[in-house]
Amino acid sequence: MSSPAEPANLMEAIVSLAKRRGFIYLSSEIYGGFNGFFDYGPLGAELKKNIRDCWWNDMVRRRDDIVGLESSIIMHPKVWEASGHVAGFTDPLVDCKVSKQRYRADQLFFAAVVVDGKTVGYVSALESENTAAELQAAAEAFKRKKAIQGALAPVAPKEFTEARPEEIEFIPSPATGEPGSLTPPRSFNMMFQTNVGALTDASSVAYLRPETAQGMFADFRNVIDTTRVKLPFGIAQIGKSFRNEITPRNFIFRSREFEQMEMEYFIHPDADWLKCHEEWLAWCQDWLKSIGLPASHLSLYEHPKEKLSFYSRRTVDIMFKYPFGVQELWGIAARSDYDLQQHQKFSGVPQVYFDEATKTKVVPHVIEPALGVDRTLLAVLCAAYAEDEAPDEKGKMEKRTVLRFSPRIAPVKVAILPLLKNKEVLTHRARALHAKLKRRYAVQYDDGGAIGKRYRRQDEAGTPWCVTIDFDTIEKPGDTFTLRDRDTMQQKRITEAELFALLEEQVY
Ligand code: ATP
Repeated sequence: MSSPAEPANLMEAIVSLAKRRGFIYLSSEIYGGFNGFFDYGPLGAELKKNIRDCWWNDMVRRRDDIVGLESSIIMHPKVWEASGHVAGFTDPLVDCKVSKQRYRADQLFFAAVVVDGKTVGYVSALESENTAAELQAAAEAFKRKKAIQGALAPVAPKEFTEARPEEIEFIPSPATGEPGSLTPPRSFNMMFQTNVGALTDASSVAYLRPETAQGMFADFRNVIDTTRVKLPFGIAQIGKSFRNEITPRNFIFRSREFEQMEMEYFIHPDADWLKCHEEWLAWCQDWLKSIGLPASHLSLYEHPKEKLSFYSRRTVDIMFKYPFGVQELWGIAARSDYDLQQHQKFSGVPQVYFDEATKTKVVPHVIEPALGVDRTLLAVLCAAYAEDEAPDEKGKMEKRTVLRFSPRIAPVKVAILPLLKNKEVLTHRARALHAKLKRRYAVQYDDGGAIGKRYRRQDEAGTPWCVTIDFDTIEKPGDTFTLRDRDTMQQKRITEAELFALLEEQVY
C-alpha cells in the first residue's frame, strides 16, 4: 500500500467528495442554498447516526451512572432568562454600510500602519491562520500605494472589539478595502426567536434552544424524583440546537442549525471537582480516538482564568486540527452550581438533592462535556480522507480516493459483491448473505460493473470490507468468500461465521 497523500486543498477535496457521494448537500440547493444550513445525504445520514449511536451507547447505555433525556427544542422562555441567554448570549456584530456584509468583531482584526513612529492609516483582515502576515502585507501595500517614505514598524494586530471610537472611521472594511463604512460593534443575540400560539406580540415570544444543556437542568428534579440516580450521576441528551451565527463558515463547522451531544454530570458540592473534570477530559479524548480520530490531531486548550465566565471554575476545549486550523471540537466545563441556582431562583422550585449520608439538602455542582455532532462528523471526514494508488483492472496503478473510517462509524460496514451479475448461482448465494447480514448491519449489495470499479466505489464511501462471492464459493468445499480489506487492499478467504465474528468484534 502506498502512503496516503494529502491533496493540496484538502478542504476542497472533502467538500467535493461529500457532495459527490451523498454525504452532505447544501440545504435548499435548488433555491441557491441557505447560508448556515446543510442536509445530510444517504451516506451522511448513516455516518451521523453512527456517531450519535456510538456516543449514546458509550455515554449512556454502557455506564451505570448516566441516564438519557430528550427535552423539547422550544422551552418556556423563562428558561433562557434564568440561564442568562436572553441577556448575554450575544456576539459583537459589525456592519459594513456599503457592502452590507456583517462581521463578528472578535473575528475581524485591524492594525495601525506606523511609519517613523507616526500612525499614517489602518489595515484590516479577517481571522485566519495567517492574520498577522496578511496585516503586515496589507500595511506594506498601503505604504507603497500612498508613496510614504520612512521605516514601517511591524504591525500589532488587534481585535475590532478593541478599536477606539476615534479609530473606527479609519479602519477599512474587508469587503471594500476602504475606510469609513464600518459601524462600532453592537451586541447581537444569537437566539432564533419565534412566536408560540396565534398571537404574535411580545407575550408569545419563545426561542429555539441554542444548546441542549438547559433541558437537563430544567428536568433535574424530574429525573431525581423518577429514577434511582445517586450523586454523582449524569443526564445526557442528543439533539438539535440553533444559533443565528453572524458568520457561518468552514462548511458544517459553524452552522446555524446543528446538533449537540451534551452531558451534565452532577457532583456533590464538596466533591473533588478538579479530579472529576480531569477524568472527563480523559474520557472524552479516549472516546474521540475510539471513533478513529488520530491522537496527533487532538490537543487541549485551557481557557485563561480571566476569560472564563464568572460561574465557570475551569474550561478546557479538546481541539481538532481541521484543514482550516486548530479549532474547538469539544468543550469540557466545570460550571459550579450556577444553572441549578438560577433555575431555583427563577422558578421558585428548589433544585436540591437529598444527601443521605449527611441528611442535608444540597445543590449539586456540574461538569459539562459539550460536543457538536456536525463538528465531529467533519473531523472524522478530514481524518479519514486519503489518496493513494491501487491497481486497475489491467494491473496499472491509478489514483484511489479512500475514506478510512473506523468500522464503528463507517456508513456501510460490508459490501456484498457477486462476481458476475448474470450468474444465478453467484447472485443467489450473495443475496442470501445480504439478507442475513442486513438484519444486524448496514450493508450494501452491489452487482454493477467490474469488480475493481465496485471496490473503488466502496473505498470512496469508506466501507471497511468487501465480500466477493465467486465460483470457489460455490464449487469448492467450505462455502468461503473473498474478504477484501479497504486499507491494506489484501484479500483472504473467509467463512460466513468468521465474517460475523469479525463484525461482532469491530462494530460495537
Ligand atoms: P464556538 O466558540 O466555536 O462558537 P462555543 O464555545 O460557543 O463554540 P459551546 O456553546 O461550548 O460552543 O457548544 C458546545 C459544542 O457545540 C461546541 O464545542 C461545538 O462542537 C458545537 N457547536 C457550537 N456552536 C456550533 C455551531 N454554530 N455549529 C456547529 N457546532 C457548534
